[in-house]
Amino acid sequence: MILFESVRVISFAPPSVSPPMDVLVDASKGPRSASTILEVGQGLAARHPGARRISGAYLSPGLVCSHTHLYSALARGLMVDIKPSKDFAQQLAHLWWRLDRAIDLPILEASGLAGLADAAACGVTSVVDHHAGPEAIDGSLSVLKSAYDTIGLRGLVCYETTDRNGMEGARAGVRENIRFAREIDHQRAAWTRGEEGSSFPLVDGAIGGHALFTLGEETLGALGDAVRTTGRGSHIHAGEDKYDAVDSRHRYGADLAVRMDKAGLLTPKSIVGHGVWLSPSEVELIAERDAFLAHNARSNMNNAVGYNGLLTDHRNVVLGTDGMSADMLEEFRFACFRHRESQGPWWPDQFLACLDRGNRLLERYFACDPAGAGSGAPAVYGRIEKGAAADLVLWDYEAPTPLEGGNLAGHLAFGLSSRSVRSVMVNGKFVIEDRKPAFDAEAIGAKARKEAARLWKRMEERS
Ligand SMILES: [Zn+2]
Repeated sequence: MILFESVRVISFAPPSVSPPMDVLVDASKGPRSASTILEVGQGLAARHPGARRISGAYLSPGLVCSHTHLYSALARGLMVDIKPSKDFAQQLAHLWWRLDRAIDLPILEASGLAGLADAAACGVTSVVDHHAGPEAIDGSLSVLKSAYDTIGLRGLVCYETTDRNGMEGARAGVRENIRFAREIDHQRAAWTRGEEGSSFPLVDGAIGGHALFTLGEETLGALGDAVRTTGRGSHIHAGEDKYDAVDSRHRYGADLAVRMDKAGLLTPKSIVGHGVWLSPSEVELIAERDAFLAHNARSNMNNAVGYNGLLTDHRNVVLGTDGMSADMLEEFRFACFRHRESQGPWWPDQFLACLDRGNRLLERYFACDPAGAGSGAPAVYGRIEKGAAADLVLWDYEAPTPLEGGNLAGHLAFGLSSRSVRSVMVNGKFVIEDRKPAFDAEAIGAKARKEAARLWKRMEERS
């Protein structure tokens, strides 16, 4: 057992900062058990003298990145001759689709490790990924999962199915999503039965699709079938750029969300990426289906696709970095400031609620068991309370002004940053302790640089 002693406990939604208290975590059942918070209160050290005692300033739930692309981790500072782009569709064709075709499984492994190591360092304990790599589809989600297991983070992965490389490629994408969901079902069932050598999976799969403008009716139907048969939700970009919305009405005579809904792709486990160009009736439909909208302010700014003027009408907004970096506090700040620039009505508190809501997404995947075996996983995420998942961040923060629930969002928007992250725990196990990673950060960095050079060379060959 681990006892965080005399820490001020932060809750993001509703925002609160407690007086100093103790938090006892069950870390005794081994690294691959489902670990939870056992007790929160005062004077716990006297009652649990055997617990390992750790002190610090503030303890918060781990942060959740609800939409990213780990494959872009090796695109940082990219030195490849890229043709200039006049619009978003050209940016995809000139840069991102050239990059994803150049990814093989060793490159994917290196980018997954580098991206997740970065996330951990920023206090991010769960990462929701959307992967593409059309020349190396089969088995790609298991390669990503092994990167999550190496770093020790929680998360969701999916393969972004698309018709843009032909129908065989589309079918391979659907197959990989289903295969991975089955792999997790088996792992979870083995763990539930207590099989020798089994472990509780910290990673689950969603059913991924690229974007509606590269998904025809046949593939959308196949993705809808995959959602139904696996019990997972869809994870698809929709209306990131205006082109997607116009194409949907032009070629299919239907709004993006209507196409998704007809295929059964809007459910309480669905993640709609961006949604910058959705209409009010689509926002309403997504809310009716209780699906999530992943807002990525920084990426939208960088791609100049416009601002989501209907953001505040959505029911379940979550925040993602879209591969721009791994730092969710930075992303939260961009979301706040870009919204202020558009003179929107939300204050940092509302964006803090969006950041926290990534935990509801985790709960909808991890607190239930599509295989019906009764997973025994914690049902509550993102709360520091008895029975909640032990995903925690210990912060060293010397606040220059009083810090309490009423101004927590202000401290996060204007002060507290990832440089204050001291220790990061996922599932009761430290992935970073006293600023030292439990994984081999140097080896991961060296491997990433080597594979990045190979990725860039492969991109040059695919111009
Ligand atoms: Zn994205």
